[in-house]
Amino acid sequence: MDAYIGVDVGRTTRIAVVDASGRILSQRRINTVLTDGRSLVDQLIREVVALKNVSQQTVLAVGVGLPGLVDIDQQVQILPNLPDISAIDIRSELAAAVSLPVILDNDANAATYGEWKCGAAKNANNLVYISIGTGIGGGIVLGGKMQRGARGYAGEFGHMKVGLQELDCSCGSVGCLETVASGPNIVRRAREMIFESPTYMRSVLASKISKRLTCEDIVEAAMQGDELAMRVISSTANYLGTAIANVINLFNVELVVLGGPVMTTSTILLEYIREYLKQGSFPKLYDCCKLVAASLGDNAGVIGSAIMAQDRLSEQRMAARG
Ligand SMILES: [Zn+2]
Repeated sequence: MDAYIGVDVGRTTRIAVVDASGRILSQRRINTVLTDGRSLVDQLIREVVALKNVSQQTVLAVGVGLPGLVDIDQQVQILPNLPDISAIDIRSELAAAVSLPVILDNDANAATYGEWKCGAAKNANNLVYISIGTGIGGGIVLGGKMQRGARGYAGEFGHMKVGLQELDCSCGSVGCLETVASGPNIVRRAREMIFESPTYMRSVLASKISKRLTCEDIVEAAMQGDELAMRVISSTANYLGTAIANVINLFNVELVVLGGPVMTTSTILLEYIREYLKQGSFPKLYDCCKLVAASLGDNAGVIGSAIMAQDRLSEQRMAARG
């Protein structure tokens, strides 16, 4: 059976063999080497070659999603904390080592592709996917085509300006959505609110503050009606809903898919976002757009990068046939 390898690079890297319909046949998770770009690339090559060699299927191509800017020439331009990686031609090195065609893309684009081809956005032609986790990423499909922009960097949803808190962002700017609504920043805002108000010291979240407070704790407390947790969820939804309203007003998409670890744990957040989205959107555009949760969970990236590799390969074969 023909198959494809999908790779989703993050703090943990997932590598999977995926069939043509997007079903995962086998996979492994590894702790990513994050010391320097060279070591990370060597690790990726080693792991992909090893998985290809043990796979019982005929692997035809490899797709890799990376948490940074990947340009249309398949060069990684920015990977946070690993600046030396932009000097490495990852695609050529991996293709030579594994003797297969390889494509690279931004990890959120890969997840968008997965949800679009095999998940919650199947059959949609105009959609935006947004992933909320340690960072906030996104991907755009318009007129049945992934939109990559002039150099391949489109979809940096996390760096839309919400402008209420002028906090420094990892992108070099200030006031980005990611600085208030990513997983770690949701937790940071909850902690700050606990320390700022004596009332909130009685919150169920305050009792957890000596331990590692997580987004799951906040969601759980909100479900139990904790006032502080509700305020954190509501303000997070306000930031996200406002930013999504801008996207809907701009692109008239039929579907917005919300994924990533923060969304996986929180249906309450989705409901609040829907309210703010309604308030912020042009009513006609809101009425023809659905807001849904992603359906592939943390498999979206590996499935998407594998199916993207499959589609790229068949495009190339069609072009070769003329
Ligand atoms: Zn930013």
